[in-house]
Amino acid sequence: MSTADLHTILSIDEGPAAEVINPDGAAPVCLVCEHASAFIPASLKDLGVSPDQRFSHAAWDIGGRDLAMALSHALDAPLVASRVSRLVYDCNRPPSAPDAIPAKSEVINVPGNAHLGEADRVARIAEVYHPFRQTLHTTLDGFVSPPTLVTIHSFTPVWHGQKRDVQLGLLHDSDDRLAKAMLDAAPNGVNTQLNAPYSVTDGVTHTLREHAITRGLQNVMIEVRNDLISDPNGVARFAEILTDMLTHALAMQRAT
Ligand SMILES: [Zn+2]
Repeated sequence: MSTADLHTILSIDEGPAAEVINPDGAAPVCLVCEHASAFIPASLKDLGVSPDQRFSHAAWDIGGRDLAMALSHALDAPLVASRVSRLVYDCNRPPSAPDAIPAKSEVINVPGNAHLGEADRVARIAEVYHPFRQTLHTTLDGFVSPPTLVTIHSFTPVWHGQKRDVQLGLLHDSDDRLAKAMLDAAPNGVNTQLNAPYSVTDGVTHTLREHAITRGLQNVMIEVRNDLISDPNGVARFAEILTDMLTHALAMQRAT
């Protein structure tokens, strides 16, 4: 696809599909937030979803960007964040995944993704997934020594009518070192679990696999229940908790 073919979905004014916050951050940590934004380009006409669904957890990780920003500040670490809703393209999924462009998310139908033609699918990949992937790739290349890759997510407290008790999930792919070290550093009073509320078998570790495992980087996927980070106080609390856990876990890794 030539450059001239881009901007069929995202206009030039709507900007690139990914951004780097605190690009000169000094910490050997790269933060990633694939579901940071609920933005749907005007050309896609809200994908046909209703106004109350437009900013639900189906469209983005509620509180995820705020938490990732707070961590970027606290750790002085670069943050790569998506600027487009996962309903347009889920940057934590490879193009081959059926839910990369979901026609249904939990109980929400996404009419604009149903019966998507090949040209439209290719355009979503070219204008959202590839720029995000390239931005993360370039950011990782910019570290002077191999960084730790940490992805930041949030999850809904109720899924298909089932209440979730877990508050903080630490997920891993084939490398479980950092997730387990962070679990050991979890504070009392926060229901923290390994590989919850879902895990690698649900296809959620694409970024870890693609960008960390292949490079041999330490990595973890962090999931916070979104009702706990829906306001500034909650964000500040979890930024502090996670900064402590991560700092402690990385220090333990260096000591062994
Ligand atoms: Zn997410």
